[in-house]
Amino acid sequence: MESSIRIHPAVDSGVKQGRSDFQGGTLVCACTDRPVKVRIEGQIAHNHACGCTKCWKPDGAAFSIVAVVPHDKVTVLENGDKLQVVDPSALIQRHACRECGVHMYGPVEREHAFQGLDFIHPERFQESGWAPPGFAAFVSSIIESGVDPSRMDGIRSRLRELGLEPYDCLSPALMDYVATWTAKKTGALAS
Ligand SMILES: [Zn+2]
Ligand SMILES: [Zn+2]
Repeated sequence: MESSIRIHPAVDSGVKQGRSDFQGGTLVCACTDRPVKVRIEGQIAHNHACGCTKCWKPDGAAFSIVAVVPHDKVTVLENGDKLQVVDPSALIQRHACRECGVHMYGPVEREHAFQGLDFIHPERFQESGWAPPGFAAFVSSIIESGVDPSRMDGIRSRLRELGLEPYDCLSPALMDYVATWTAKKTGALAS
């Protein structure tokens, strides 16, 4: 399953299956001194590779790996004083470590379909067993980070080979979820 096309270190040698009994764990930033630690209770949801320019990616990765958990399942355990919000005007309030730059959790507080969820990067778990990524979102956006457009066919093929169906927005299931929320809010659908 090895390929010269780098997607993300967590999937480049094949997507690892999760464990159905995964109970959560601790996310740790990249600092060797006083790392930020964040406790996540329970399994993650909607894990996916993301090509947008806002998600945190490890060095050399074209994509991030990002998932959601309910906000009340997220607890900062240690060194929370190192956290700062990357862009306070963004929908996702990404809390990053000021020293190493790793995004630790990103709550959605605004009225939105994702309100009450926090975006996290499961590769930062000390533990294994988290649900694997299931698709790739915002794939065309990697061009905005400087990927040559001529490489996109190869990158989309590699994503499919890994079982990460590429989409240029979110997956159809999540796009439908967001649109349903909007339709209920406007009254186009009964809530
Ligand atoms: Zn750090
Ligand atoms: Zn993203």
